[in-house]
Amino acid sequence: CLATGRPQYNSEKVFEGYIGAGVDITEQKFLQQQKDNFIGIASHELKTPVTSIKAYTQVLERMFRKNGAMKEAGMINKMDGQLNRLTSLIGDLLDVTKINSGRLQFNDQEFDFNKLVSDLVEDLQRTTQDHVLVASYAAPQFVVADDERIGQVITNLITNAIKYSPGSKRIEITTKASENEVELSVRDYGIGIAKADLNKVFEQFYRVTGAMQHTFSGLGLGHYISAEIIKRAGGRIWVESVEGEGSTFSFAIPLKKVKS
Ligand code: ADP
Repeated sequence: CLATGRPQYNSEKVFEGYIGAGVDITEQKFLQQQKDNFIGIASHELKTPVTSIKAYTQVLERMFRKNGAMKEAGMINKMDGQLNRLTSLIGDLLDVTKINSGRLQFNDQEFDFNKLVSDLVEDLQRTTQDHVLVASYAAPQFVVADDERIGQVITNLITNAIKYSPGSKRIEITTKASENEVELSVRDYGIGIAKADLNKVFEQFYRVTGAMQHTFSGLGLGHYISAEIIKRAGGRIWVESVEGEGSTFSFAIPLKKVKS
């Protein structure tokens, strides 16, 4: 129950209690839970057919290529790209359901942080001709964390840098290492984020609105999921940005998570 109230005193100035209003939030909680359940079931149901369609498109693309039908193979390849987008949106919805119900799991293991970053940079460079990913690496550093989840954060930061800097080519990816943590920053020279929105970009379903932002589509979940992953890895995530000039998203995680 959410309550707001004013303390009441009798004529001897002795506290008697509060006068105010109470709002029952059981109903709100129930609705929130229903919404989470629905998102969970819907995204789970969407995942199966999408996975199956994806498998067929890959077979088709191979067949077309083998028969020299390059135009058709190209079209199927475009379909596959859109299916990847769909798979990633569904994945984000599933992750949010897991976060909200406390079921997001982590499999920690030791891995080479720079290698993870450089593999992803290489993969993502292949997806774009309009951008150049310029990476510089600190001395090698091994981290104990869930490499897939940390990779998900890195991918999210770089794909957002690409997405929100349509007019500029350069994206800088830098790793730093200190005695007890590693840091990654992704700098773009794109549309940037207004000061008032800076803290909100890590909130669930938050999307910046404004003249520059309205042409970009998305669910507003990527940064929320990233922030949750980094928090669970015992680290911190932050953003610096100037509207119209670009943004730098960074995170730091400890080499080994301190058990809490
Ligand atoms: P979305 O799916 O909308 O991209 P995110 O959670 O990844 O969701 O990002 C939240 C919002 O933060 C975005 O809608 C966008 O307005 C803003 N944003 C994220 N990354 C950048 C960036 N590199 N430059 C400018 N704005 C960004």
